[in-house]
Amino acid sequence: MADGTDPAPGAAQVDRAGRSEGAAPVDEIRLTGLRVRGHHGVFEHEKRDGQDFVIDAVLRRDLTRPAASDALADTVDYGTLADTLAAIVAGPPYDLIEALAGALVEACLQVCEDAEVTVHKPEAPITHAFADVAVTLRRTRAEAAAGSDSGERTLRAVVSLGANLGDAAAALQDAVHALELHPRIEVLAGSPLYVTAPVGGVEQPDFHNAAVLVETSLPPRELLAVCQGIEVAAGRTREVRWGPRTLDLDLIAAHDARTGAAVTHDDAILTLPHPRAAERAFVLAPWADIDPDASLTTVAGPQPVRALLDRLADAGGVRRTATPVRVPTGASGAGPAPGGDPV
Ligand code: ADP
Ligand code: MG
Repeated sequence: MADGTDPAPGAAQVDRAGRSEGAAPVDEIRLTGLRVRGHHGVFEHEKRDGQDFVIDAVLRRDLTRPAASDALADTVDYGTLADTLAAIVAGPPYDLIEALAGALVEACLQVCEDAEVTVHKPEAPITHAFADVAVTLRRTRAEAAAGSDSGERTLRAVVSLGANLGDAAAALQDAVHALELHPRIEVLAGSPLYVTAPVGGVEQPDFHNAAVLVETSLPPRELLAVCQGIEVAAGRTREVRWGPRTLDLDLIAAHDARTGAAVTHDDAILTLPHPRAAERAFVLAPWADIDPDASLTTVAGPQPVRALLDRLADAGGVRRTATPVRVPTGASGAGPAPGGDPV
């Protein structure tokens, strides 16, 4: 996996500061005091009313290159980082700030080797005068890859991608790349790109859609949090429901990677399988490309995805292109479906 911290050409085994290869970088980017309203906490009133959370993030990575090049592309854009972290804090509520810190540190590890996140909860429900309560998590990519467990890929999931603003095809490709960069996610297969007429009555450009099959050691809700982080990093806005968006990543269905048993989930944050998947040709068609024998659990029980697709009136509204979503070399599973015929 590329990590953006490749050694400069000619870099020696031991760098100028005497650090041996593989040692944690000593350079740091710090973002502190990021104050965002969120709804995390175990109490009903915390979920309902919300409160301010204050985030400090320390990203450790080698800054030799941007220090010399003066180029933003060589470093972390801290404006984007702040947006990503703020969206997680403002997003789906966790019971524990430990879990919130876990999601934030995961997001930071997309752009550095070693990250430390502190979540302060200065308005925590404590019946004494107190200054602050905070938790700090420090993780490296290697630790995150190993996970708190063995790092075993326990979940196999179908992720549907859509975009219809700007260079939508590039946005989908970048999103697949971002998934692959995540230390606990592996992209196994990708569908061809589809071009889809918009549904929902809002006047807007055609959508580009695709689906990928991933394996991950993350639990379903954390996988969704990663997908939402990727949406935010792509500058997603949500002003109009069903309206144009730079990027939309949905979890469609998931299975236990070892037993193949369907994984279901139903809470305020995540519904699995995705409740509207059966009605959406732009979800089913690319999914059937990467897994022709897939089935979707519906209210009527498990149904073959191909059969569901055949029954949809708008199946003609999705057009398969000859362009595959690129998945990393060495990925197993289905490649792009043969041919570029319209579905
Ligand atoms: P949509 O994808 O339906 O156009 P959004 O992307 O704005 O709409 O998602 C709205 C909410 O749906 C998110 O806040 C997310 O928590 C929730 N959600 C529930 N189940 C899923 C799922 N399987 N995949 C993606 N989002 C989901
Ligand atoms: Mg979505």
